[in-house]
Amino acid sequence: MNHSDYDVVVIGGGPAGSTLSTFLVRKGYQVLVLEREKFPRFHVGESLLPATQLIWEKLGIAEPLQHLGQTFKYGTEIRIGLNPQQSEYEYSRQEFYKFPTQRLQQRPYAYQVERSEFDLFLLNHARQEGVTVFEEAVVKEILWEGDEATGIHWKSKDNIEYITKAKCIADCSGRHAFISRSRKFLIPNKTIKTSAVFGHFKHVTRASGIQQGYFNGYVIENGWIWFIPLASDIMSIGVVMNEPGTSWWKQKSPEEILLTYIKQYKFIQERFEQAKQFSKVRMLHNLSYASKHSVGNGWILVGDANFFVDPLFSSGVHLAFRSAEKAADAIDGFLKNDQDRKVFQHYQKWSQKEHFHVSTTMSLMYKMLKYRVSMEILVKLTGKYSNHWNNLLLRRLVAWGSGYYEEFHLVLYCSWVFCILLIGIGRVCEKLLGMSAWNTHSEFYSESPQAIAKTVESLGNGNFSNPVASTTPFNDLNHPEQSVVSDD
Ligand SMILES: Cc1cc2nc3c(=O)[nH]c(=O)nc-3n(C[C@H](O)[C@H](O)[C@H](O)COP(=O)(O)OP(=O)(O)OC[C@H]3O[C@@H](n4cnc5c(N)ncnc54)[C@H](O)[C@@H]3O)c2cc1C
Repeated sequence: MNHSDYDVVVIGGGPAGSTLSTFLVRKGYQVLVLEREKFPRFHVGESLLPATQLIWEKLGIAEPLQHLGQTFKYGTEIRIGLNPQQSEYEYSRQEFYKFPTQRLQQRPYAYQVERSEFDLFLLNHARQEGVTVFEEAVVKEILWEGDEATGIHWKSKDNIEYITKAKCIADCSGRHAFISRSRKFLIPNKTIKTSAVFGHFKHVTRASGIQQGYFNGYVIENGWIWFIPLASDIMSIGVVMNEPGTSWWKQKSPEEILLTYIKQYKFIQERFEQAKQFSKVRMLHNLSYASKHSVGNGWILVGDANFFVDPLFSSGVHLAFRSAEKAADAIDGFLKNDQDRKVFQHYQKWSQKEHFHVSTTMSLMYKMLKYRVSMEILVKLTGKYSNHWNNLLLRRLVAWGSGYYEEFHLVLYCSWVFCILLIGIGRVCEKLLGMSAWNTHSEFYSESPQAIAKTVESLGNGNFSNPVASTTPFNDLNHPEQSVVSDD
């Protein structure tokens, strides 16, 4: 059945789809958003960045977001394994806040959000602005005339199939990466081959005062662990590991894997004494990928549908907003210039640059994480400043980590040189001098790391004895098309 035509059809109603469609209706276009789920729905990616406040201001949602009942995130705490001393910084701290810019001073904080509520809020806001939104509406295929995307074939919640024509198709389908997957130009990252397990727990010990809302990142061998404090005493906890495919991860359930890490590290286990599992534990593989092309004749990729690198800097949602803002301008130019695809090239260049910066830096980090000596040197060199963040270089790095990728090219290049040097030292020490690997550092562990492959017992008080286990299989890491789709 034919459905009325639109200027732009947007596939997916996550942060990228809601933001893009809102900016486009404001420019006077007819926009249709098709979202396959019924909101509110679960989604991973709960820690936001203060840098996004600038886009929330433009959307007119910065003030209402304060009343959404989510946790205020005033800062971040990072611990680097081995010698797990705390390094925390508060976004509003005067010295830190002088840099990179004064722009954020009005709201120097972000939020830790239940994505179900946050995404629903954004989608409803798009509706109020005049976007037509259908939920439980699944896009089945793109209609092509040669290499030009001219419309879509989709199915409504009543199982009626429609053809909708549009001048431009915006793919905001997240990790489903609808266009690049179906056109077969989705490329998995060659060095970052991460998998993640994550779930929600109640009664996990929190810090007090404003620090109770901090993002906690614990960097460990080959990966890291997140603690994201949500409202109603819920803690989102996840483990991200590089290349776990060859190890014991294959034989264990997501539940067992997560609990193994919790049990293994002393300072993490301490926070778990009263904890109770609150959600199923989920697993995702091949987190990092990118589409070879971001634009084409009549189509554009936005947010995770374009690329995703790593959640460590909590930048995924920020990039979804930022790329949507950029894509709205690109689509406006495309439609005003007689659908000349050359107008899209600026967007393509911008997104390739973003991807290059983030993926190079994260690749170096994961390479460095293999070598205990590299990480020890990093801790020693930064340790003096790690609780202050007044040091110019660290402040700039943190600012980058908070989402200012575009302004910090020089710092990025400097940090690459620094990381390559540390990786080299780590390799030499390990290979030539036979220095020990991470897992011989017993003072860091509550249990011998060698016990990691053994069956996990439930934590002392039996709170985890009857977990709601996910049955997600361990997908073949060589076939990302099977494994990068979330089971949300
Ligand atoms: C393990 C992990 C942890 C993360 N943690 C963080 C974090 O702490 N902070 C952060 O900022 N980011 C985090 N991220 C990244 C973050 O989740 C994403 O970057 C963000 O959700 C991207 O938004 P989006 O709108 O592009 O895609 P999504 O939010 O995924 O939205 C895409 C939407 O498209 C819909 N859709 C898909 N296919 C179709 C179809 N065929 N028809 C109709 N609709 C369709 C989906 O249902 C979905 O609602 C994390 C990611 C991972 C993997």
